[in-house]
Amino acid sequence: MFVDHLTCFACGAALPADQPQTLCPCGKPLRVDIDLDRAKEVLGGRRGVPGEGIWRWAPVLPAPLEARSLGEGNTPLIPADSLGKELGLKRGSLFVKDEAINPTGAFKARGMAVAVAMAHRFGYRKLAVPSAGNAGGALAAYAARYAIGAHVFMPRDVPAANRLECELYGAKVTLVDGLIHDCARILAERTATEGWFDVSTLKEPYRVEGKKTMGYEIAEQFGWALPDVIVYPTGGGTGLIGMAKAFDEMERMGWIGAKRPRMISVQAEGCAPIVRAYEAGVSSAPMIQDASTIASGLRVAKAIGDFEMLRIIRETGGCAIAVTDSELIADAKALSASTGVCAAPEGGACLSALRRLVALGQVQPEDQVVLFNTGSGTKYAEAFAA
Ligand SMILES: *Cc1c(COP(=O)(O)O)cnc(C)c1O
Ligand SMILES: [Zn+2]
Repeated sequence: MFVDHLTCFACGAALPADQPQTLCPCGKPLRVDIDLDRAKEVLGGRRGVPGEGIWRWAPVLPAPLEARSLGEGNTPLIPADSLGKELGLKRGSLFVKDEAINPTGAFKARGMAVAVAMAHRFGYRKLAVPSAGNAGGALAAYAARYAIGAHVFMPRDVPAANRLECELYGAKVTLVDGLIHDCARILAERTATEGWFDVSTLKEPYRVEGKKTMGYEIAEQFGWALPDVIVYPTGGGTGLIGMAKAFDEMERMGWIGAKRPRMISVQAEGCAPIVRAYEAGVSSAPMIQDASTIASGLRVAKAIGDFEMLRIIRETGGCAIAVTDSELIADAKALSASTGVCAAPEGGACLSALRRLVALGQVQPEDQVVLFNTGSGTKYAEAFAA
């Protein structure tokens, strides 16, 4: 692994990467700076190295060679021409990146594969995470893979499948009366005495690195010419931030040009801090009170990486859109029925947002569009029954 050092996303401070790190002393997240000259040499071109899934990009990942896999990454890009036609898009314009087929049925596996590998390398034996839904199961699965302990804090009304999978993997689950930020607070109060390492979104630097592999895969799947638009359901923002980082790394390695997809952040009306901040023209997002949406992965009332998401959305000429729960549920069904992917409500939200963008003329018929289905609909029985 060719990690140079860590740099604060906000203040630019540099910190050493040879020891465990959490946030920058200024309170903001840390970015992993890879020695791209050395990584490029080992990669020897754009084909990756022998390995499975995300590990084809191992030279740009901060994980030891002995990192353990559950088969994460290398997800298909599914053409969605009939859906595209219905929306008024040209043939060959619309694709679904199907993250549902990752281990634990969501793209959270990519981030946890790398974060748990690093925590294990640093010698931690007990990991903990607050989770609105899928992060807990992903942590629990990788903790099981490394035979270390996992403690997951979830809102009491989390989908039952999310809690059950944690318990199935042997993790300890604590249900909290509140939302993910309440879970995070309780976890933080107990971390020091329990000796846990906290793998919360962006509070350690390595989950973003796992998620950035989505950017490498999209570039490869589009023949190293990026699509025009990426529509992505945003909670904590690791996917958005990770993909943007991947594109920057690939440009610096000479793999792609300067063109970037317009990054569209999709949230739910009942919890849309990034959309509100985008619309207000500000660079950080106040906490949403009484956040509520059936798309549990989007129920993040305050994101620590808000400023970086907003920068990416604006710099790429993208935007942020909120859709209603009834829209996103109907569109999860429509997306599944018209493509064969098993769409989560969060994936449905992306389709609802795309409908609006096309209607507004912000997406043109010939634009190449990637919709993200970030998780599997099978985990959301309550949402679809309601
Ligand atoms: C966590 C999650 C999201 C939000 O992802 P971020 O990268 O944290 O913004 C979206 N969809 C699903 C299914 C999730 O589990
Ligand atoms: Zn800082």
